[in-house]
This record gives sequence, structure tokens and C-alpha cells, in this order.
Amino acid sequence: MLARRWLILAALLATGRAAPADAPPTPPDLPRYDLSIDIDPAARLTQFRAKVTWTNPSTRPTRELVFNFYPMFRVPAGDSLLFAKTLELLRLEPSYGLDKRGGHGRIVKVSAADGQPLTFARRSDNQTAFTVELPEEVPPGGSVTVTLDGQIRLPETQGRWGTWDGVTYLVNAMPVLAYYNHRGWHDMPFVPWHQPFWNEAGVYTASVTVPADHTLGCSADVASERVSGGRKTLTMKPFVGRDFALFASAKYQEFKADCPMPDGRTVKLRVLALKRHEFYAREMLKMAAVALPVYATWFGPFPYEHFTIAESYFGWNGNECGGIVMVDERVFDMPHLARGYVEYLVSHEICHQWWYNLVGTNGYSETFMDEGAATYFTHRLLDTKVGRNNEFLTWPEGGGWLPNIKRENYRNASIYGAIRRRDAPAAAGPLPEFGHLVGLFSGAYDRG
Ligand SMILES: [Zn+2]
Repeated sequence: MLARRWLILAALLATGRAAPADAPPTPPDLPRYDLSIDIDPAARLTQFRAKVTWTNPSTRPTRELVFNFYPMFRVPAGDSLLFAKTLELLRLEPSYGLDKRGGHGRIVKVSAADGQPLTFARRSDNQTAFTVELPEEVPPGGSVTVTLDGQIRLPETQGRWGTWDGVTYLVNAMPVLAYYNHRGWHDMPFVPWHQPFWNEAGVYTASVTVPADHTLGCSADVASERVSGGRKTLTMKPFVGRDFALFASAKYQEFKADCPMPDGRTVKLRVLALKRHEFYAREMLKMAAVALPVYATWFGPFPYEHFTIAESYFGWNGNECGGIVMVDERVFDMPHLARGYVEYLVSHEICHQWWYNLVGTNGYSETFMDEGAATYFTHRLLDTKVGRNNEFLTWPEGGGWLPNIKRENYRNASIYGAIRRRDAPAAAGPLPEFGHLVGLFSGAYDRG
């Protein structure tokens, strides 16, 4: 499974009864996460209990578990300027996205299967990872179950966790086991300007409580719903994926469509967007209905019966999650004539359902494995769908003389700019070595 240095994880997913008939079965030793999550946007707080079962997949015994828990992140001294400049580059007012306080995640208690409390501590060399000491060694093939109780404050900051203008988001926010192999645990530091994630896919079961007037967007599909005292609890269907993302808002309007797939199944498409963004919500349904079947033909079956795009506030344009994609509010707000760009963006994020979610990668050191692939295959999809080098902007009749953005120019501008400046970085390397987002785009994305 790990024979090739740069192909780190290759866990193919299936979701039990929801899986297409020809999908491979879920690997039996994937970690299992049984989550109980209570989201209270008014109190700016999420509380959770996570019962986690880990099976040692390697030849090396261990007496500890290591979790990544990214909401523990605080901006390191000296990094504020880089982060503020990154947000400016993304045309976001830095104070909207720069979380000066940080440290919003807290583990309150860790218990063994018999209820005994276990000792846990933050890693001395990684502020977003913590270690749980186990009472006994877990041999190769052996399993252990622990329960984590914790909370995540919801800052009024745009990003992966928080709440902004009535939308609450928890992305890569739940504790997740670090990747483990014969060399031990591999917890990766959090890098807020990209996806430094390296973990095995997980089997998730969950119940999620939100205010009764909120609509939930989630990696998993809803099995049942119960309303009581102004709150509603949704029991989710089992989900196998790279992460477990959540969005909730009373402002969400739900737009739906059916997507027939090449294997004869139908995927339920859903866009959760603010009411004023109906145009792009409906356009994104059409974009997804083209991209999903093509990618399924190229790479293998899409493993779910549902797929969601959720509007959120995070400052960059789009971001992949298992079974769900988030798209920034400003993209939904773009003029309708920019549909060509939105089509490119949404097709790219959907491609990550294969290159990131099904085929896992080491996002910290080998970003090109999923970003290079997603970039290349998105252009290939659009070449066949709308023709090579199409224009992103569709001006009204008579406006053809106005400036436009050709897709090939967009595609090549940053890599050729980097080559001309003689600062094109290597395709592979730890995220900090790219220096900044533009370096990462030219080094890892555009080389695809
Ligand atoms: Zn991407």
C-alpha cells in the first residue's frame, strides 16, 4: 500500500449500501469515528464527543495515538504579516480572515473504552497535534477505542471554522488521527494558507444538533431528523471519506437536481446558497451534473449517492471536502458574465472528490499529487466541454471588444511569470518551502 514514496494513501472508498456495485469494499482497518456534535452559533460554540476506534495498520506496535486538531492553531509570532498579505492577495480585507486570538479548539477529556481517563498532551513540536497515552501497547492488526470530549469556539472570522453573517462552518475542524506507518506517527503542522492534511480516510457515523431553523450541509447524508425545544438533531448515514465537514445556516436556500451517473445510479445534487445567489446555485448544479459523470468515467465510480456544494465565507474561492465542496460567498456574488470562471472553479473542486478524497495525499509535502492532477484534468474536461482556450467572460452583445480572460492565459500566467522571474519552485516540498500561495500555484498546481 505504501510502496511508492509519493503515493501515500490509496484508500478507495465505498459507503456500504450506498456504494456502486463495482466499487471496492471499504478497507477493514480504516479508523472509525462515531461523532456527536452540538453546534450553537448564538453561543459561538461547538461541543463534541468523538468515539474513535483505531486499528494498527503497520508492522510497528505503539502505545500512543496522535491526533491532528487544527482549531488549536494560533498564528505563530512573525507569521501575521505573511497571512495578512496572503489575504490581501486573495482580495480579502485581512482583518476578516486573520484570527489573532486563535486556540479555539480544546480537548476537555480523553477516556478509554472502560471509561478510565487517559493522559493526553499537545505535541511539543506541533501546536495542532496531541498525543494520547494508551494503557497497553497496540500490536500490528490490534485495535483500540478512545473517546474524546472537546469543544471548538466559533470565531467571527472567515476561514475553516467560525461563523460569519449567519453561516457557520467547521471544515477540517474535528480531531482526526494522524497518518501512521512503520516509521511511526506523521502529524503535520497546520498551514492556514493551504491544505497541509495527511490522514487516512475514516468511517464516520454522526449525530449533529443545530438550531431548528438551520439547514445543515454535511459530508454525510441525512438518515433521520428529530426536532425538540428549538433544536434539531440529525442522524447521518454512515460516511467514508477523507474528512467530515459541516455547514449550517438559517439563510441557506436549497437547490437540487438529479445527476444520472455512467453506472446507472443517480446522485442527488444539492447547492446550499444564500437566497440572492440563485443564479449561480442553479448554474453550479448544471456544472456538477457534467463534471461528476465525466470524472467517474475517467477515474472510477463516484462513491456516494449525494453531493453538496455549500456557500461559505473563507476568503479564497473554492475548497474541497469529502462529499462536499465549499464555494466562497464572493464567487456566488460575481457578475453573471463571469460564469466561465465559476465553471472552471467548480469543475476543479469536484475533481478533488477523486484526487484528495478517494486517492489521499500528503498535502503538506506533496501538494502536487492532488492539485496538479485536479488542475490538469479540469482543463482537459473544459477543453472537451467548451473548447480549448475559451474566454471566462461572456460580455453582452456588442461588448466583444472589451478585455477578456482566456483560459490558457489564466492557466499559464503564473508558471511563466515564475520562470521569467527565475523563482519557479520545485513541484514537491513542504508547504513552507513554497514561501507563499503564488509559489505554490506555479510550483504544484500549474505544473499539472
Ligand atoms: Zn484544488
